[in-house]
Amino acid sequence: MKPNQAVDHSSLYHRATRHFAWPFLVATSSAILASGFLLDREILYFNLSYAWIVAWLLLLEIGVPYRSSWRKTDGQLGPDLGHTILNKGLVQLLIVQLIGLGIVGANDSSTVATLPLPIQIIIGLVVSEIGLYGAHRLAHEWPLLWRCHAVHHSVKKLWLVNTGRFHFIDSLASVLASVPFLLLSGISMDAIVWVSAITAYLGVLTHCNVDMDCGWLNYVFNTPNLHRWHHSDKRDIGNNNYGENLMLWDILFGTFLYKKHCDITDIGITEKMPASFINQLTVPFRWSKVQSSTDLEVIK
Ligand SMILES: [Zn+2]
Ligand SMILES: [Zn+2]
Repeated sequence: MKPNQAVDHSSLYHRATRHFAWPFLVATSSAILASGFLLDREILYFNLSYAWIVAWLLLLEIGVPYRSSWRKTDGQLGPDLGHTILNKGLVQLLIVQLIGLGIVGANDSSTVATLPLPIQIIIGLVVSEIGLYGAHRLAHEWPLLWRCHAVHHSVKKLWLVNTGRFHFIDSLASVLASVPFLLLSGISMDAIVWVSAITAYLGVLTHCNVDMDCGWLNYVFNTPNLHRWHHSDKRDIGNNNYGENLMLWDILFGTFLYKKHCDITDIGITEKMPASFINQLTVPFRWSKVQSSTDLEVIK
């Protein structure tokens, strides 16, 4: 498909994808993870479920893209993958090590941990979202943190590879803001694995370039419909929809933005962002210099 070529929205295949891809992918990935718990191989099956959802989204991005122009390369694949490896590798390795060393861990004997697993998962999602919402909102409203978060927002198109594109300080801030809430909630380790898995599934879904209409789900979960508005280059529009998984805190604090059947504005940032991975890592520490630079290669 050529860039900007109109997508045929009328085919049965396209209409089915629009309405059912999101719930289908969340349900089937969850079913794969549930099988892993039954077989006592939850980490292996989590990886399989993640590979399943990514493989589907790669195919759907080709078949039913939200914007065909976003399929064009933006020269940011290297930095996207670099940030992803650094974050998912180092930050998550750190968490696993801390859990392995017993420095942090769930309390499986707490009263909350005796509740039915679905209830614990809901508690975990709601409670961890307090930290995630707070850290994300601060990253938009506090100029020093925005320098880091701007790396995530600097791309001009969204696709699933953008999911892990975060400056590592930004990632660390989100982890440090949410994990204590998760641990203090008293949910079991199984529930923590479920909350982490759901976060991973929803993360890749919110950034995918697949034409989806999530309908009423937009009032509960973070979806591609909502997150694309969050990536708007207009700050008054982008400074909404901070939820990572749930929209609960956005609705309560008045930052929920959902424009039904309305095409999004352009995405990106108004400031300069270096094009190279290494320069993106150092940009928070030399922000003013980068903004006034005339010879640095920046994202256009
Ligand atoms: Zn943001
Ligand atoms: Zn995003």
